[in-house]
Amino acid sequence: MTPQLADNYMVTIAERLTCAYARISNAAKNTHRSKNEITLLAVSKTKPSDDIVAAYNYGQRQFGESYVQEAVDKIAQLHTYSDIIWHFIGPIQSNKSALVAENFDWVQSVDRIKIAKRLNAQRPTSKPPLNVLIQVNISAEEAKSGCHPDDIANLAEFISQCDQLRLRGLMAIPAKSDDPTTQTQYFEQLQTCFDKLKAQYPQLDTLSMGMSNDVEAAISAGSTMVRIGTDIFGTRT
Ligand SMILES: *Cc1c(COP(=O)(O)O)cnc(C)c1O
Repeated sequence: MTPQLADNYMVTIAERLTCAYARISNAAKNTHRSKNEITLLAVSKTKPSDDIVAAYNYGQRQFGESYVQEAVDKIAQLHTYSDIIWHFIGPIQSNKSALVAENFDWVQSVDRIKIAKRLNAQRPTSKPPLNVLIQVNISAEEAKSGCHPDDIANLAEFISQCDQLRLRGLMAIPAKSDDPTTQTQYFEQLQTCFDKLKAQYPQLDTLSMGMSNDVEAAISAGSTMVRIGTDIFGTRT
């Protein structure tokens, strides 16, 4: 890549990040919340490490990845950027759980006890506990990952007893919809689940919902973390 191209890349990603932060800020304002309550997770799956560096140079520190091997390769390439906070947000297969436990700071996609148990056992004791969100299948789609809302309490109880895991909250990817009313309905259901769980575990602080398509609806329903890929890094092939 020529230096000039690299510069163009950086400008583009920096501008897109500026827009993403402005969008969060506006959405927060419109719903009388502080923008400081909302973290932007830059979703860099399928994108090269250079793009992550461009975002990093702009000040972005939290990145989300969905494919274990791709992510582990990028984390190794970028190991000198030691203050990056890596979130795993994809489906977790048992045979990949050790790589997730060893390489990430957060896992947002824990949806069953079996996986929580493996992550707890595989998290190196030299590292701080792994931050965990329970993924909820909020729109009850047949093929989607995430636990049923009725199963949150059981899974939360299990995770809260794991020394190497730290339960932080909930995550969901609702069924795709371009209708803000439908989007809001799912997000409000998730917020209700979160409030209920928080009554039992007051230390919970993270409600991860909202993507490029539905940031406003998510923030109006109480999201504390939006996960944005396309709007920052461009479309994925
Ligand atoms: C890919 C992905 C995102 C980002 O989606 P965009 O529509 O590109 O913003 C967010 N969350 C999860 C779990 C994802 O897999």
